[in-house]
Amino acid sequence: MKIIIAGAGIGGMALAALLHQRGVTAELYERAPNFDHSGYMLGLYPVGTRVLHGLDLMEDFLAASESMATYTVCNGHGQEIHTYALGEMLDQFGYSGGIMRGELLALLRTRCADVPLHFGTSVTDFEETKDRVTVRLSDGTENACDLLVGADGIHSAVRRKLFGEAPDHDTGWGCWVWVVRNTKRPPTAVRENWGAGRFLGVYPIKGGLGVVAAGPTRMVGPDAVGRDGRKVKAHFSALGSSVADLMAVLPDDLGDTFWWKLSDFRSKEWGKGRVALLGDAACAFLPTAGVGASMALESAAVLDDELGRTDARFLAGALARYESRRKPRAETFQEDSRRLGSMMMIESVELSWGRDQLMKFYTLDMLAKNIAQSLAKPI
Ligand SMILES: Cc1cc2nc3c(=O)[nH]c(=O)nc-3n(C[C@H](O)[C@H](O)[C@H](O)COP(=O)(O)OP(=O)(O)OC[C@H]3O[C@@H](n4cnc5c(N)ncnc54)[C@H](O)[C@@H]3O)c2cc1C
Repeated sequence: MKIIIAGAGIGGMALAALLHQRGVTAELYERAPNFDHSGYMLGLYPVGTRVLHGLDLMEDFLAASESMATYTVCNGHGQEIHTYALGEMLDQFGYSGGIMRGELLALLRTRCADVPLHFGTSVTDFEETKDRVTVRLSDGTENACDLLVGADGIHSAVRRKLFGEAPDHDTGWGCWVWVVRNTKRPPTAVRENWGAGRFLGVYPIKGGLGVVAAGPTRMVGPDAVGRDGRKVKAHFSALGSSVADLMAVLPDDLGDTFWWKLSDFRSKEWGKGRVALLGDAACAFLPTAGVGASMALESAAVLDDELGRTDARFLAGALARYESRRKPRAETFQEDSRRLGSMMMIESVELSWGRDQLMKFYTLDMLAKNIAQSLAKPI
């Protein structure tokens, strides 16, 4: 079976590596020119790291990542509300850890190094006949396959071609994302400051911490602040001295700090005919629960599993089973990330105070109940 994958992100690379492991060589097209930009940090849960086990990448992942031992929620003044031991929920299922996106991609690449990967080339269109998909590429060429996998992220061109335009689920918030190195902060602690109209979280990576500073787009987005880092600092410095070290490293011109709109997406179907959607293209997540990459890895494993039990003639059944194994689970995880988002992204001082009181009593299972329950379930 000839398979083309649009997008060499977490889902696309994991699928290519899994297929390669059983002797199937896919062909990847990736819009970015290379993997040189390390991107942002990703926290992986056991649902994601278990897939790395299957690729014999666990030792490499352990070497390139940092564990996440505790999760502390603070109020908008930096005072601790609740600290959770993440291990109590996660350790029985596998390893959890934080890694830079670029490093995870590089690890996955080691498991499919000789698979053709065309950087700087986008999938722009495709056409399906009874037994082929002809894929059109940004370099003007075409390539035909039995199966096209759209792993091209939240704004998937493949999905738009299949089902048309549909709006994101937009929270009206966004976040600035950067990394701090050589910090004196505890290396394995996830710590978040939940204020009114401002949120700041730090997440372990090897040798540092990833920082996410989120706020309403109309207040702190690029249209409001341009590239003026001082305006960003002024907004988040209201969280108090507990974030001063993180704000101090933010350059006044914002350097390569990037802005990420906090929106997600749910596709009504995960494919059609000889085209399947994978990862964020099918179901994208707010980063609030940190599950998008884990879900992309898990979906890649299920898609590979279904493809390994069929050939090109029976693709329709395999893709239908893939969707029914993945869509409900991914959407329950998405509900958790939306619920967490609605607790984190509060503008009113009064509501934020009420939320802080509730958080004193919330357990991890209550905060992410679908994720907690799903960890033990089969996929
Ligand atoms: C700031 C931030 C923090 C996050 N934190 C976490 C976290 O802690 N834990 C977690 O699990 N998830 C997290 N996520 C979410 C996670 O990054 C995504 O859910 C995950 O990367 C999805 O994988 P994917 O392969 O579907 O998409 P991506 O990894 O986004 O890959 C899609 C790829 O497709 C390429 N592409 C796009 N269009 C085309 C085209 N037309 N043709 C060819 N290539 C194309 C893109 O360049 C990209 O490389 C975070 C996201 C952000 C932005």
